[in-house]
Amino acid sequence: MNRLVILGTGTAGTMIANKLRHRLEQDEWSITVVDRDDEHHYQPGYLFVPFGGYTHEQVVRSRRAFLADGVDFVVGSVERVEPDEDVVLLESGQMLPYDQLVIATGTTPRPDQTPGMLGPEWRRSIFDFYTLEGAEALAEALSRFESGRLVVHITEMPIKCPVAPLEFTFLAEAWLRERGIRDRVEVVYVTPLDGAFTQPVASAHLGGMLEERKVHVETDFMVERIDTEQRMLVSYDEREIPFDLLVTVPLNMGADFLAASGLGDELNYVRVDKHTQLSRQFDNIFAIGDASDIPASKAGSVAHFSVDIFVGNFLEHIAGLPMTGAFDGHANCFVESGHDKALLIDFNYDTEPLPGKYPFPVVGPMDLLKETRTNHLGKLAFRWIYWNVLLPGRPVPLPALMSMAGKHIPTSEHETKEA
Ligand SMILES: Cc1cc2nc3c(=O)[nH]c(=O)nc-3n(C[C@H](O)[C@H](O)[C@H](O)COP(=O)(O)OP(=O)(O)OC[C@H]3O[C@@H](n4cnc5c(N)ncnc54)[C@H](O)[C@@H]3O)c2cc1C
Repeated sequence: MNRLVILGTGTAGTMIANKLRHRLEQDEWSITVVDRDDEHHYQPGYLFVPFGGYTHEQVVRSRRAFLADGVDFVVGSVERVEPDEDVVLLESGQMLPYDQLVIATGTTPRPDQTPGMLGPEWRRSIFDFYTLEGAEALAEALSRFESGRLVVHITEMPIKCPVAPLEFTFLAEAWLRERGIRDRVEVVYVTPLDGAFTQPVASAHLGGMLEERKVHVETDFMVERIDTEQRMLVSYDEREIPFDLLVTVPLNMGADFLAASGLGDELNYVRVDKHTQLSRQFDNIFAIGDASDIPASKAGSVAHFSVDIFVGNFLEHIAGLPMTGAFDGHANCFVESGHDKALLIDFNYDTEPLPGKYPFPVVGPMDLLKETRTNHLGKLAFRWIYWNVLLPGRPVPLPALMSMAGKHIPTSEHETKEA
């Protein structure tokens, strides 16, 4: 019997287990998945929790309930992988030997890594929405917030869902307006990037949207510490940004056990080939989803598209054949912009988000880099698709690799902003 062990039963781990269970003979391959608990969170739903959009029950389900028959689920925390021995050690002392290992342990917000963040103001005037508890605590704080400086802050890149802090800012701005207190609140967006987003066309477009909403943007801000007495973000170049309510995205890091196992880079991301996601050190270890160091967005959509490519490659790999699939870094993200509208961006390693139509040229029905109600409905529908189609490993009728069909390259600065 061959043993496939998958670490992490989040978006990528669940899809992989379910898809491979249908492709690998039960009497030839066992599949074991490991996670700390039995709570699967729909993380994109966290964005709406601070505004009363989703309840706890709408974003949390049992992990086990989503796993196909014939997949073994082990509840436990991974302590270490011993890649030379082909064995995983859990904190409980349990050992899981493997023939093939998939690391899908994602990335986690680490407020402990910034001095002052976890100090006395944590969950008093400093909040995050990258955890469910954080988003729920922020909902409470926002309901009491009447006036002052609301600062939305990214500690460092990469973070999962890099558009989520922008979405939060757009939603907060719209929400303040709807409550009739927008003129009493100064909204500031603080980023370590040199613009609103990572890529020129999208950055200019999203930056223009912040400008329209009178959100001040502080760029190139590398936070050194948070002064909790003065309630200020302080950067390495000694800029100070005071806040009354700080909504921060803490440093994101891969799991600590990856450093302990000699498999991680300086942020604990697994070094892999960016097309096959096979470890650059070990021929029987893959890393899929946010856990890897591929230069793509850390996003559920990337996990989904890369799993589609990975499954074919994995079957070839275990048959001793060369892997013929090459993942292109395809990401596809809705960007909520407030007032029941959203944008959609679609890009990959080589092509930045461009305007146009998706998935079909001319007819869409989605518009790229443009605020529409259809995109917003797409974002809301995604929760149903996630639970009912993606996680069970059912096919989604979207190509895994990015297509240029329907996209066009803006030719002027004006067109870029108007895209
Ligand atoms: C606020 C927010 C909004 C988002 N919005 C979007 C969006 O609109 N679109 C989009 O595509 N993506 C979005 N994402 C990102 C998306 O949720 C992640 O990119 C996706 O879940 C990554 O899947 P993964 O399987 O790599 O990691 P995860 O789904 O995070 O799973 C990792 C799993 O590993 C487990 N694990 C970690 N360490 C250990 C250990 N030591 N032992 C045992 N188990 C361990 C964890 O418990 C977890 O279950 C959003 C994320 C957030 C936080």
